[in-house]
Amino acid sequence: AHLDRIGEVDGAVNAFLHVDTEGALNAARKVDEDIAAGAHVGPLAGVPIALKDVLTTEGVPTTVGSKILEGWIPPYDATVTRRLKEAGLVILGKTNMDEFAMGSSTENSAYGPTRNPWDTDRIPGGSGGGSAAALAAFEAPLSIGTDTGGSIRQPGAVTGTVGVKPTYGGVSRYGLVAFSSSLDQAGPCARTVLDAALLHEVIAGYDPMDSTSIDAPVPPVVAAAREGANGDLSGVRVGVVTQFSGEGYQPGVLRSFEAAVAQLKQLGAEVVEVSCPSFDYALPAYYLIAPSEASSNLARFDAMRYGIRVGDDGTRSAEEVMSLTREAGFGPEVKRRIMIGTYALSSGYYDAYYGSAQKVRTLISRDFDAAFATVDVLVSPTTPTTAFPIGERTNDPMAMYKADLCTIPANLAGNAAMSVPSGLSDEDGLPVGLQIMAPALQDHRMYRVAAAYE
Ligand code: GLN
Repeated sequence: AHLDRIGEVDGAVNAFLHVDTEGALNAARKVDEDIAAGAHVGPLAGVPIALKDVLTTEGVPTTVGSKILEGWIPPYDATVTRRLKEAGLVILGKTNMDEFAMGSSTENSAYGPTRNPWDTDRIPGGSGGGSAAALAAFEAPLSIGTDTGGSIRQPGAVTGTVGVKPTYGGVSRYGLVAFSSSLDQAGPCARTVLDAALLHEVIAGYDPMDSTSIDAPVPPVVAAAREGANGDLSGVRVGVVTQFSGEGYQPGVLRSFEAAVAQLKQLGAEVVEVSCPSFDYALPAYYLIAPSEASSNLARFDAMRYGIRVGDDGTRSAEEVMSLTREAGFGPEVKRRIMIGTYALSSGYYDAYYGSAQKVRTLISRDFDAAFATVDVLVSPTTPTTAFPIGERTNDPMAMYKADLCTIPANLAGNAAMSVPSGLSDEDGLPVGLQIMAPALQDHRMYRVAAAYE
């Protein structure tokens, strides 16, 4: 049924870069056979899922939304992919994304933009717009995204779906094509909080193949989502981050947020205001750290090891072939990030730019620590605005970057954060998201609040 639905609507939505019809049907058949044979299967066995095209899939193309990896077929599965298969989930295909996960609208994909199912003239968020749009268009009930600065939560917010960035190190990065390794984190996307929690427990957990994987038990997020569903938040302390309002925020988004806070109070939560002054510097710090790491990570696309090779006619040096390949293979935003990152890391500038940004990162972590000493979770709007029209921000990188104002602090500090649907804006009738943030390894706290609010 989901493959049929993809056939019907994906021409208009463009959520998928690759649909693996045969692989999906085989996986589904296998689950049927296991059940018929009396084997024990997990709670999500047989459930279809869409995978952001940044996670490797053995034998199935992985492009990361880039021309440079066009035609590349990975020889191995990412740990997330492997865990999904082991749990019997049925992988429908790979979803569209901004090239190398750099963007907030999916317009930076080399394969055309994804459209927001609520209004196909608008963006579905990014970089994981395909994973969010696939849920909103009922092409898949579950999907996987990755969140470096907001790429799970912001698409979730603008498509009216649930998006979770787990604690950094909670989900393995093995097989996740690296953008900014100290920030990248894969996570679950779903239409309900409980669905996200069930998926979270499938993909999370220690992995020796990822050196930053946390060797600790997976937070009990399913139990927390079930507990929250009883709608009682008494004893829960919620902090409203005072930095996330004012200029640049749509009044409709702020009114939705006020209503959300009132509802949390009604459910019994105690709500206080919390100031996190260093959050004002999160965006500039992020746009030094993320491009710096990207400039290093993307050096591996050298025309020799993976993907396309341009100009190798027997007359050119390896260096010339590398330059021609990178020129043709990378899009403008990726080139911009490589240049910014190379500059920020260069000798003489390193301390002033990269070094300062790392200090700001520490201050942001301290703001979180101070806040979580008095509250259980923090809340804010997920995004300053609802889905904007396709094309509106493509020539204005700063405007595009601001879509992640509220989501970036959690990446810099490494703690858990999610977006849960918060109704429709009374201004334009488009979905708004409520962001809930929790301390590292306390992912269950935000699931409880989200399930009660939902
Ligand atoms: N929009 C942010 C960026 O372009 C975040 C992207 C992400 O989370 N992958 O860097």
